[in-house]
Amino acid sequence: MHKSGFVNIVGNPNVGKSTLMNTLVGEKISIITSKAQTTRHRILGIVNTPDYQIVYSDTPGVLRPNYKLQESMLNFSESALSDADVLLYVTDVIEKTSKNEEFLHKVQNTEAPVLLLINKIDQTNQKELEDLVIEWQKLLPKAEIYPISALNKFNVDLVKKRILELIPESPPYFEKDALTDRPARFFVTETIREKILLYYQKEVPYAVEVVVEEFKEEKDIINIRALIVVERDTQKGIIIGHKGLALKKVGAMARKDIEKFFEKKIFLTMYVKVEKDWRSRDNLLRQFGYRLD
Ligand code: GDP
Ligand code: MG
Repeated sequence: MHKSGFVNIVGNPNVGKSTLMNTLVGEKISIITSKAQTTRHRILGIVNTPDYQIVYSDTPGVLRPNYKLQESMLNFSESALSDADVLLYVTDVIEKTSKNEEFLHKVQNTEAPVLLLINKIDQTNQKELEDLVIEWQKLLPKAEIYPISALNKFNVDLVKKRILELIPESPPYFEKDALTDRPARFFVTETIREKILLYYQKEVPYAVEVVVEEFKEEKDIINIRALIVVERDTQKGIIIGHKGLALKKVGAMARKDIEKFFEKKIFLTMYVKVEKDWRSRDNLLRQFGYRLD
């Protein structure tokens, strides 16, 4: 008997969805930073054993759209509600239960079983956690509630066990050696984006899109050329930095991670280009892989 199913991870920004996904998959599929809106696309992470295939999907946090880009991000999160065998609704011990009532209402009305995961319990105490559990029980009476710490891997095995019980008998949806549906280039762009989010301040990282223009694998080395797209000349200056030092540093950090991921030597060149207001331009968003309706 073989089991297979789609397990979708939803919730507000910054509650730990990507951390959880990586813990569940056991690989760094999704980038993680302390900044909201780190995850922009829907990303699949696949776990295979001879007996089952679980297809996790990490989504951008739910938010109210300001830009076209954010509308597309919200679409990814809402579609995750409709095609799940199991829904993991992630919250944490910090956010208020009333943070996003509209989305909560949609979660209440999904047919899939819902596991409500209260993350970051390393940041609270017994009493506060118990009160929070009671509050959530009232709001989502049908959900099963699990307090977890994705970072410390606390209770994550328990969640995994429950997921395995809930997914249906089914042949696999993807090849049994697949780790993700994303092409190699995607990990390059995401890794560079992660380093940019970590290295630069304020608005700059949000105005950045990364495009891998060349990915050439040779016997001992992979040659990669990446383009960093920004919205304004001033941002270009900031990304490059005095004497190019900032970009050099980001490149070095990214290269280290990419080498680890592919277990191969990497030659990485990066350059910066201005595309005025790309976050509001349909054709550019499509070109960057965002779905617009
Ligand atoms: P996402 O926006 O929901 O995908 O959240 P991320 O996975 O990117 O995590 C947001 C921040 O929360 C990061 O700084 C994580 O290191 C942190 N985080 C995730 N899980 C835990 C946890 O269990 N405990 C604590 N203290 N921090 C966590
Ligand atoms: Mg994320």
